[in-house]
Amino acid sequence: MRGPDLIIRGGTLFGMTEDRSPGLYSIAVKDGRVSAILPPDAPANADRVFDASGMFVAPGFVDIHIHDEYFQDTDTVQHCLIRQGITTAVAGNCGSGPSFDKSFAARPRPWLHLSFLVGNCAGLREEVGHSDRYTPATADETSRMCELLRDALSKGAIGLSLGLEYAPGASYEEIMFLAAVVAEFRDRIITVHIRYDDHRCVDAVREAAHLSRMSGARLQVSHLGSMTMGYTRQCEKEIERAVSEGADIGFDCYPYDAFCAKAGSAVYDDGFAERWNGKGPECLEAVSGRFKGNRLTFETLAEMRKEEPLGLIVAHVMEKAEVEDCIANRSCVIASDALFSGGGAHPRIAGTFPRALRILREYGYGWEDALRKMTAMPADRMRLPAGRLFEGSPADVIVFDPDKFTDRATFKEPFLPPDGLKLVVINGEPVLENGKMSEEPHGDFYRRGN
Ligand SMILES: [Zn+2]
Repeated sequence: MRGPDLIIRGGTLFGMTEDRSPGLYSIAVKDGRVSAILPPDAPANADRVFDASGMFVAPGFVDIHIHDEYFQDTDTVQHCLIRQGITTAVAGNCGSGPSFDKSFAARPRPWLHLSFLVGNCAGLREEVGHSDRYTPATADETSRMCELLRDALSKGAIGLSLGLEYAPGASYEEIMFLAAVVAEFRDRIITVHIRYDDHRCVDAVREAAHLSRMSGARLQVSHLGSMTMGYTRQCEKEIERAVSEGADIGFDCYPYDAFCAKAGSAVYDDGFAERWNGKGPECLEAVSGRFKGNRLTFETLAEMRKEEPLGLIVAHVMEKAEVEDCIANRSCVIASDALFSGGGAHPRIAGTFPRALRILREYGYGWEDALRKMTAMPADRMRLPAGRLFEGSPADVIVFDPDKFTDRATFKEPFLPPDGLKLVVINGEPVLENGKMSEEPHGDFYRRGN
């Protein structure tokens, strides 16, 4: 009988099933799956052996919130994710996921495992010809959107994403009809970029919770800390209250005190300074195009919005301590919101997971609990077959040096990969080894069966 294809030997293994505590083990991999979890000194009888002594070994990270809708840039986004240890991701968030047929059609094999949400803006409103984001969809448009959504979910999309701040015209009635379609399918989910990012964010979270409870659909509030400046704890309490009353609602957060959105989006419409307690254009930094690297003025902002609506603007408006408290909430899962547009990016694209791991350790988290917020917990929210290592699990594994694993990406250099990640295995294949990417992608598209 043929031996294993790969043995990762003698590392400290985390993220197994609940009956197994972390400890020194070797992992054998065969045909893309974990074939055995062995003693650390198991014989090295495989085609390839990776010596993990002194290293930590964990399931690959599961990132439930990325943007990978701009197909010409997928390699850049996916490589950045792999270089921070992510092996499974969910694309199409914040309302921007295209129709399911478009997200699968003509796409090359992904570098990591990729599943899709259909977005209410790009995938539904635009598909039925409703291009005005400030007006509600008509009854006829809404019923066609429901049909498109039902079709996508029946083909394997894992849920619906709502970008309510980006489509202020989307009425509660419109999203309630869509939520009811999601609830027809078992185990699907709605992710919500909530409607407001100012003092009304608490009401916006209430709207999302109400949508979940009235429709029965599971729901995830996206990048909570980035939209709830000054009110994050209050918003967490709203979610906790809904959960205690039986709703299936979760939330995620990325570990930075600045958010970012496309220049042309409704986020930067007139009145943003009033929304953010007087924080004006001096808090806004262009990360692509003509004004790259500069803080903006009302004039340069207007120019950028007109000339480069797809260019990215970073808004330095949140409080570090408030965001980190959110990350440390036991219910919060880590998600990157990775986005690459107009040639620019926010450092969350390359640094989120090692950075969050470091922050959680500073908050007193043990390694197993901290890693769970990046593996099993997000996988469970999205019901993905990922995030745990056991005999028969997908062989999506990372190996890192616990003393050196840290983010390096900055607002000036957002693509800098982290230090200390030694190996990333996807489907049993080494995809990143000592800093070098494999020549071929080894990920799979994931479709939910009915
Ligand atoms: Zn968003």
